Amino acid sequence: MISLCPSCNKKNRIPAANLLDRVICGSCKAEIPPPSEPIEADPALFEEVIKEAKVPVLVDFWAGWCGPCVMVAPFVRDAAKKAAGRAIVLKVNTEDHPDLAVRFRVQSIPNFVVFRNGIVRRQKAGLASPEQILSWLEVDG
Ligand SMILES: [Zn+2]
Repeated sequence: MISLCPSCNKKNRIPAANLLDRVICGSCKAEIPPPSEPIEADPALFEEVIKEAKVPVLVDFWAGWCGPCVMVAPFVRDAAKKAAGRAIVLKVNTEDHPDLAVRFRVQSIPNFVVFRNGIVRRQKAGLASPEQILSWLEVDG
């Protein structure tokens, strides 16, 4: 995936498998920290992260018209920040990528799916508390 270097703003291509390793900017050699915010995923990025990430991946299926999705978004962002370096949070817009929603039987949103090593470990539809969302990112093994 593409990450912006916080020091020089140059784009760096980082394989999903290495997202949480020490990554050095190809341009200025500064260290690029692991993602601490939800990442908007298209199908290609989704596949790459789900398959290659070495940590739990929480996917938030959402849409702009969905009130509860908007309500829960700050909790998702907060969880991504607190779990930075230990988990990855993706967001999938179900209007832009309905194929992904169908594939994971997302019938109502918000819908949270937790993957570990490419396998669905947990799935929950509806509103969730900040504590719940954070606890989903602690999936082991
Ligand atoms: Zn840089």
